[in-house]
Amino acid sequence: MIPFFNLTRQLADIQPLINEAIEKALSTGIYTGAEVVRDFEADFAQFCQSKYAIAVNNGTSALHLALSVLGIGKGDEVIVPANTFISTAWAVSYTGATPIFVDCEADTWEISPTDLQTKITPRTKAVIGVHLYGQVFDYEQVSQICQANQLYLLEDAAQAHGATYEGKKVGSLGDLAAFSFYPTKNLGTYGEGGAITTQNENYFQKIKKLRNLGASEKYFFDEIGFNYRLGAVEAAVLRVKLQFLAQWNQRRQQIAQFYQQNIQNPLVKMQKTNPQATSVYHLFVITTPNRDKFRDFLGQHNIQTALHYPCPCHLQAAYKFLAYRPGDLPNAEYLAAHCVSLPMFAELTNSEVEKIVEVINKFLNF
Ligand SMILES: *Cc1c(COP(=O)(O)O)cnc(C)c1O
Repeated sequence: MIPFFNLTRQLADIQPLINEAIEKALSTGIYTGAEVVRDFEADFAQFCQSKYAIAVNNGTSALHLALSVLGIGKGDEVIVPANTFISTAWAVSYTGATPIFVDCEADTWEISPTDLQTKITPRTKAVIGVHLYGQVFDYEQVSQICQANQLYLLEDAAQAHGATYEGKKVGSLGDLAAFSFYPTKNLGTYGEGGAITTQNENYFQKIKKLRNLGASEKYFFDEIGFNYRLGAVEAAVLRVKLQFLAQWNQRRQQIAQFYQQNIQNPLVKMQKTNPQATSVYHLFVITTPNRDKFRDFLGQHNIQTALHYPCPCHLQAAYKFLAYRPGDLPNAEYLAAHCVSLPMFAELTNSEVEKIVEVINKFLNF
């Protein structure tokens, strides 16, 4: 069986370094708010070409704090793509603001600047652009729209650690950026983790406080905060893995290029890439008219696939109260109904990738 995703192969490559880092973290006797967390923050800020990084307990919390520090709340609207992982929208809802869903482009599947423009109202405060599947969204157009309308621009970079736009790293582009270190992400810990990056010192100071229950000094609180801290062991793992991230991303790019050049089946459509951006291929998603047949066929040939994501955010039951209807965001809905994610992780072997291509090229829609 060729797995859709597998983490034990990576562990086998780095286990001695991981063991050493975890042992060192344990030996300090300090398991949260530890020195190793600050060391990781410094490493990660540097990796993202960003002045500041604040590590938190997961990516959803990172998005929540990024919105909170901007004072976004009840009565405000935040524009988010409909085709994203649900956390992008949840973070908006946690603040009391309303997520306003926007369609994606028909070919890049990234946030549509044209549709975005039509969703702006006097209540709009911010836009969250998602670097979906590891590819940077049309940053130039989206940031121009944000500037012209005095909106904050946040990056949801949970799928794109290391991706670039005109040579600049994600995490350094918007007012703030949120990352996830969920185990399956390009940079993942053993457990849960996340981070916010920013160039703004005020945001940095305020987010550090909000992460730590809002404490201005020990046991004194000048606003309501959250316990969103990252553990020491998770940070120690991330410091080790960060050293390999560029190499792992390169291998993903190599696999993606092989898929792009060799999948030659008219029933398969791939994500259009933006020439200004370098994707880190968190996922390799295709669309195909009859995906059940396609997935069955690959399954019969022992190839696992997955779906990201089968239901767009605006049609989730939890957002029924927002009264969206099927047909409101047609590109996002088409993608949800026809997407299939092919195996994609750095440890896939060449022969596995070759077999996947061979099987896909044999697929016929009869
Ligand atoms: C994974 C992910 C998140 C949430 O991160 P968690 O660490 O799972 O909370 C947010 N946005 C996107 C686009 C994601 O892929």
